[in-house]
Order: sequence, then structure tokens, then C-alpha cells
Amino acid sequence: MEVVRSQKQALSYAASSDNVSTIPLYRTPPTLEVRLDDFERFAVDRLLVLRGISDALARGKKPDEMEKLVSDLWKANMRHPQASEAINKDIISHFVLRLVYCRTEELRKWFLSMESTLFRYRFRVESSHVHKALMTELGIPYKGVTNEEFMGLKDKLGLVARSVGQTPPTSNGSYYKVPFEEVPELVASRRVFIQKGYAYVALNQVVSFVVPHFRSELSKALVITNRKWTSMIREQEKDRLTPIVEALSTSYLGPDYGQDKALGEISLKDIDQVARASFPLCMQHLFNTLREDHHLKHGGRMQLGLFLKGVGLTLDDALAFWRAEFSQKVGTERFDKEYAYGIRHNYGKEGKRTDYTPYSCQKIILSTPGVGDHHGCPYRHFSEENLRAALGKMGVSSHASDDVINKAKSRHYQLACTLTFEALHGASCDAGINHPNQYFSDSQKILNEKDNGPDVDVYCGDSVYTSHDLIAQEKKQGQNGALNKATDDLDEFWARLVALTYEHMGGEKEIELEDVLQFINNINGCTHIRHIRFPYYQCMFIATCFVVVGFGTHVGLLFRVASAGVRLTVSYSTLVLMEEPPILYKAKEDIRGFH
Ligand code: SF4
Repeated sequence: MEVVRSQKQALSYAASSDNVSTIPLYRTPPTLEVRLDDFERFAVDRLLVLRGISDALARGKKPDEMEKLVSDLWKANMRHPQASEAINKDIISHFVLRLVYCRTEELRKWFLSMESTLFRYRFRVESSHVHKALMTELGIPYKGVTNEEFMGLKDKLGLVARSVGQTPPTSNGSYYKVPFEEVPELVASRRVFIQKGYAYVALNQVVSFVVPHFRSELSKALVITNRKWTSMIREQEKDRLTPIVEALSTSYLGPDYGQDKALGEISLKDIDQVARASFPLCMQHLFNTLREDHHLKHGGRMQLGLFLKGVGLTLDDALAFWRAEFSQKVGTERFDKEYAYGIRHNYGKEGKRTDYTPYSCQKIILSTPGVGDHHGCPYRHFSEENLRAALGKMGVSSHASDDVINKAKSRHYQLACTLTFEALHGASCDAGINHPNQYFSDSQKILNEKDNGPDVDVYCGDSVYTSHDLIAQEKKQGQNGALNKATDDLDEFWARLVALTYEHMGGEKEIELEDVLQFINNINGCTHIRHIRFPYYQCMFIATCFVVVGFGTHVGLLFRVASAGVRLTVSYSTLVLMEEPPILYKAKEDIRGFH
């Protein structure tokens, strides 16, 4: 692809119609001229689509959801008012990313998988004429079933079609005869009729063998591109394209977290508490290691130092913070001589005076920590055992840790981090975690909202507190034994509640959380109940109905009936000591009485 600063010419792809595909097969690089800024901008737009697909796949979205998501992502990022320009953008962006993602096995694998998925869902929504045209273009050799063969198999084909909820075939020409090993997904899900080693694939199922053809072509093309890139292009383009290409695979596409002004500054006296509550695991690990070892190697100093700058630590505080730790290991004089420069450099006060920005997840995940290094992403760089221990230390339950570890094992590191965030904050993070500083700012927003939440009365034994008082007291105390005790008490309470629900349901099936909530619902008339445990605050107002409060050894349950606008407390001990369901019914009577 020639890249010069001049006007583009349109490719000769036709605009969309029923019979003409708008999906290119990307067989030859375009010969058109591309402006350098379009070169990068188009690639970034396509990358947003591919990363959206990657995230959705990791979250286990179903095919129908994927179809909608791919269409939405495409419309949001790849559209152009002129059809010919949209097709140009499609082709150019694909070939730029091919250069970006051909360079290592890992990059190739990711790109191949995302491009094949993108192709699959774009292909699915095309008409059958387009399907046939693309199959011919791809050189797929399978022929349609002859009329004679079709008439002989019509009943059997009809049976299979009905069993998968499709209309039985009425004419030939709508089936392809394909060696059965070419369509393993159809065979495994029994959605195809097989005879004498051939699968009879309906026209609306051809995506099953078209995508592997597309994938196989792209896979070979990526290897060839890599050879050309390393042997010639990288050197030839070292001043122009190479820096763009090398930056794109680690580029972060979200907001700039240079210094998050929205959250103001953090002060040194709060830093331990803030780290515990709102730092992602990568930064907690560096922070704790620094506190214990009083030293971090260069990679760790850069990763943590820039993150702290991004969360609002001023240069003076940063110098004081690092000096306080390093001086315990190397002495103040050596710190000032050898290490203070690097900190000032990060803040743009030395050298080229660049105002460096904090590292994104992508960059951290792709880093390669060596022996004695502590930087990197724990979801990628920790062993399973270490990751489990680290999650436990953060306060993630063992059940949630299992999910996190599964995601990390399947190499969805950012999703693993997102699940950790959700488990710790009791709130969903639909956008996913893309940047450590985003983790921090999202966390702070949630915690601040909780701080400013409604101030409800909380009854603990004979005393009445306000929820804001409790939060303030808990903050002062930090995460201490009282919290653990309260958490244990709540676990016991829930275990008993589950047992009661089970009995109430006649012991017939496994209990789901939904059943328990429904059971409580029937008792107190609330419309929505959630049980959320969170490591830092014991007190939280939840939606319309239910507050769990732990304070010292007293645990109270506050049922808030929003519709009636009244509150009632039922002491924890009353509920926990209940052995029989009738006592819960007694609670119901109490609530009625209170109304
Ligand atoms: Fe840090 Fe990002 Fe890894 Fe989370 S996913 S631990 S924020 S690098």
C-alpha cells in the first residue's frame, strides 16, 4: 500500500445491494494513496471494533447478542457517508492492522480470531446471493445437491430442519454436500444431516465452512506479511510507518489519565487507605512490595510512579513518598543522587521535559517482567497460586476468585480485572477495565457515592446509629477484626437462611440465590433484594429495600419498605436463633404489625 500525503481514490467495490457484497476478502493490498493521519485513524477505528468483539467474546455473549453488538460497533466506528469511502476505510484499516498484528505469534492469533469473528457476523446478515458470490470468490469447491439426490433425501432433510426449528426445504439448490469433517460445529450440535461421510449443509448454515476458509487464507497472509515486514518494510519505513505500527498494538484508546483533575489530589496521609480501597491489583502489588522491601526496580518505579501521578499525587508528595521508602534501603543521599531524577523526569521536570502519561492495561499486560521485577499485570504474570492468594488478600471471595482465575487462565486479563472490580465494589463495570487509572477513578466514584448515600438509621442492639456515622467510624478503624467478625456472622446468617428456604421449598431442588431472595421477598414485601458484601464499608443502602449492617459484634438487619416509606429493624440474634421457618413468619407478622 502506497502511503503519501494526497487525495484518496475510491476502490472499485460496488455499493451495497442485494446481490453485491460489501465484505471484502482482503486478498490484495489496495494501491490507493492514503494520508498518514487516515492511516492511523482508520486503524484505531477498526481496533475499537475488534477490541469490542474481544471483550464480548470473553464475557460469553450469545450469537444473537454478538450479531447485534458487531453491527452496532461497526456502525459506530466504521461508517462513512459515502459508500465507496466506507469500503476504502474497511480495506485500509484491515491492511494497516495486518501490519500491526503480524509481528508475533500472540498478536497474529488475536487478530486472526477477532477478524474471523467480525467476518462471521458480517457474513451472517448478508443475503443468500451474497453468500453464493463470496463462496465462489473464496474458491470453495462444494457443489449444491442435485435435484435427484435432493428428492431422495427430502424427508430426512426435512426432519433435521424441523428438529432445529427451521422450515423444511422445498427445492434443491438450498443444500451443499460437504465432507462432514469440514463442519465440526454443525455435526457436534446435530444440526445437519449426514450420510456416507457427507454433511448436507443448508444455505443458511454455510457460514460454518466459509469462515474457516476465510480464516485459513488470512492466517497464511499474516505469516507472509510478517516475513515482508521484518525483511524490508520495517527498515524502509523506520522514520514514517514503523513507529505508528509499533505503537498501535499497545495503544490505549480510552481517555487520557495524565492527571485526573476530576478527583483532585490525593494526600500522603491517605495513600495507604486509598491504595487498599481503590488501587487495581497490579498497583496494590507494587505499592505493598515497595512498603515491604523499600525498593522497586526500574519497571516497577515507572509503572507505579506514573500511576500515582495520574491519581493526583503532586511532585513534592511523590518525592517525599519514594524518599521515605528508598532511604530505608539505600539511604537518603543515594536516593537523592540516583532516584529522585527519575521521579522528576516522570513529572516532566527533567530531560526532554515530556509530561509522561500513566501506562494502560494493554502496555502493562504486554510487558515482560524479569527476575526480581514486580511490574506487569498479575492476571497475566502471576502463577495461579499467587493470584489466588493476592485476590484473597484484597477481599475477593473464593467463589468470585474462581471466576477471576478462569478468565485469567483463558487469557482475558482485563476481564479478570473487571470481575475483581465488580466483586469488590458490588457494582457492575460494563465498559470493562482498560486502564489502571480508570479502575482507580471508577472505584473512587462508587465509594464517594456510597459516602454520600442516604443517611439511614441503623439499629445495633439497643443503640441507634446513622449509616454515615458508621461509615466514618469504619473508615477510621480500617479493615479490622470487627469487620471480619461481622462478615462471619453474616455468612452464618445466610447459611441458615438458605437452609430455611430449602425446607420451605420442600427440599426438592437445589437452592439458587434467587430462591432465597424470593423467600425473603414473600416475607417482607420488598420488591428487590440484594445481598452485597464488601470489604471496606459494612454499611450500605441497597436499592429500595435491604441494608446489612455490621458493627463490632452486633449485626443488625434493617428492612426498609420503600413503598410504605417505613423502616423496621429485626435484631440479628432473633433471626439467627430461629431454627424453624415459623419464626421467619413471625418476623413477617412483626412487619405487618409495624405497618
Ligand atoms: Fe492492572 Fe490493567 Fe492488569 Fe487490572 S488489567 S491488574 S488494571 S494492568
